[in-house]
Amino acid sequence: MFNQSVHESRSSSRDRTDDRESTTAVRLEDVTHRYGSSGGRFRSSDERTVTALRDVSFDVPTGTIVGLEGPSGSGKSTILHAVAGLLVPTEGSVRLRDTDLAALSDGERTRMRRRHIGIVFQRFHLLPSLSARANVALPLVQAGVPRSDRRERATDLLEAVGLGDRTAHLPGELSGGERQRVAIARALSTDPDVIVADEPTGELDTATGGDVLELLTDIGRDRAVLVASHDAATLSVADRVITLRDGRVDDDR
Ligand code: ADP
Repeated sequence: MFNQSVHESRSSSRDRTDDRESTTAVRLEDVTHRYGSSGGRFRSSDERTVTALRDVSFDVPTGTIVGLEGPSGSGKSTILHAVAGLLVPTEGSVRLRDTDLAALSDGERTRMRRRHIGIVFQRFHLLPSLSARANVALPLVQAGVPRSDRRERATDLLEAVGLGDRTAHLPGELSGGERQRVAIARALSTDPDVIVADEPTGELDTATGGDVLELLTDIGRDRAVLVASHDAATLSVADRVITLRDGRVDDDR
């Protein structure tokens, strides 16, 4: 249904074909995370400490969609936050390509996230006062891309997600599915290697969710995608599904 696929919309200036071959984009090794343990040190006396992840290890190769499933509280969001560099796990390592996120300063980690990670949330998180195009261009402002290039890239991406005729609309003037497509275009604006998505179809009806899943599938052709969901249709687009239970990997298939 989309005019131009998001796969084709990848910047042609960088030919990734060679380094795309069997590259591990994301690697988690023995990741344990405890919330409420100050400075990363576990105080067993602290009753508010929650062990959200225990010895979680898996890879997400480029060109692969990995689904994360598990009951509420099983650790899905904590994994997405760790991969996005929004939190540093108490133990273990999260690597983006060859970079251990824990070895970076906060500023370096933020730059790494802005450059290499696209994030898609269940509730879109668009700025209501900005047009669809300005929302998509926002990460490019932070990346220092010149205005005319931002405009062109944002327009191209909105066309790729089937919203070429909605570039000037505000989020409040768009349907839920259209908003999520704007959010996906925004996540792709910096041409990231990795996309993390938290219940991307959670707010959408089945048909609209299907459009979003079609987009995710397209994105997963040349990026690493990690998608957390309870929804069987969403998990069905994953090449592999990891089941979490109480912060541990219960199944990996
Ligand atoms: P899921 O995404 O699968 O619902 P989460 O990763 O959000 O699971 O949560 C895993 C565990 O960590 C849960 O027990 C939850 O209560 C706890 N948790 C999540 N965020 C925090 C936080 N900021 N502070 C303390 N505990 C948290």
